[in-house]
Amino acid sequence: MSNRITQLFDIKYPVIQAGMIWCSGWELASAVSNAGGLGMIGSGSMYPETLRDHIQKCKKATNKPFAVNVPLLYPDIDKHIEIIISEGVKIVFTSAGNPKTWTSMLKSKGIVVVHVIANSKFAKKAEDAGVDAIVAEGFEAGGHNGREETTTLCLIPIIRKTVKIPVIAAGGIGTGRGMLAAMALGADGVQIGSRFVASNESSASLQFKNKVINSVEGDTKLMLKQLTPVRLLKNKFFEEVQAAEANGASVEELASLLGKGRSKKGMFEGDLDEGELEIGQVSALIREIKPAKEIIDEIIDEYKKGKEELINGF
Ligand code: NDP
Ligand code: NDP
Repeated sequence: MSNRITQLFDIKYPVIQAGMIWCSGWELASAVSNAGGLGMIGSGSMYPETLRDHIQKCKKATNKPFAVNVPLLYPDIDKHIEIIISEGVKIVFTSAGNPKTWTSMLKSKGIVVVHVIANSKFAKKAEDAGVDAIVAEGFEAGGHNGREETTTLCLIPIIRKTVKIPVIAAGGIGTGRGMLAAMALGADGVQIGSRFVASNESSASLQFKNKVINSVEGDTKLMLKQLTPVRLLKNKFFEEVQAAEANGASVEELASLLGKGRSKKGMFEGDLDEGELEIGQVSALIREIKPAKEIIDEIIDEYKKGKEELINGF
């Protein structure tokens, strides 16, 4: 498999593991990179020295390329960027913010920059800012999400027409057939999050992983659109948010209900009632916790078989 994405990152398969707060530390990132994909450390949940620790451990655990995801609304972002540069990280995925702020500085240090978007306006803005590729993330995705609710099926062909740079599809992809569909729509690669939450190497709590593999379709919903839209797995905290939104809660009331550290409580510490559980719609297809290498091998195998079937079927 060789295309613009495998060449850009110098990887075997165009499969990127999403940076996910509390779930993707060095163990998952290095396991995915060692298996031929692009592993990514999710820095949003890490204090600066934790990020440094994870980058150093990742460098020891793999000699393959890996990336760091930086949500641009992170409070100590200057320190994160400083650490990324001083530790010699070669690939950075920015999200949740303006791509103009950091792209040229990172690129001047020789870093490959990718930005995550959910509509064509921001895709164009990211391309104009000089990023090397974009992740186009559809409505199905877990965690933070666009407000427009454009599904991956519609978003990818729109973004394909909007930009010339490589497009990585995200949202709703967790299998080889999902990857094949995204590539058929015009993507050059796929970014997968939820499937890797339920991997042995993910730093999510076992309680959260088990909740993910027991979920069915309809168990997630995009909430808190007035605040920061986020797809959540239904639980007690979800019900409280739903009731507050139905009662016309103000932005301030919703922010106070969310409070601080809810995602750590749910995803990292395993409090399935009070915590915030972020996962994508594709969780309904995930039935087993597995090593990251098995997940990648299965995806690639299913992708190849599915492609053969399609070619032979027509
Ligand atoms: P790690 O590299 O796993 O963790 C180092 C520090 O990073 C820990 O302090 C931990 O936070 C924090 N951390 C781990 N994953 C994330 C993440 N995705 N986002 C934000 N912060 C993260 O180092 P060690 O292997 O040395 O582990 C340290 C201890 O933490 C061990 O006892 C290990 O078992 C435990 N651990 C448990 C996990 C789990 O049960 N899911 C996951 C990771 C580590 P914190 O200080 O809050 O624990
Ligand atoms: P909260 O404000 O509710 O809590 C902050 C959490 O981040 C705490 O658990 C805290 O750990 C930890 N943290 C790590 N570094 C810092 C720091 N420098 N200052 C304060 N807290 C820090 O935020 P969330 O848990 O909802 O989100 C955390 C981050 O992840 C945000 O930057 C958010 O934008 C980003 N995010 C990104 C997503 C994505 O890219 N898909 C999805 C969701 C969130 P502790 O409890 O140990 O103090």
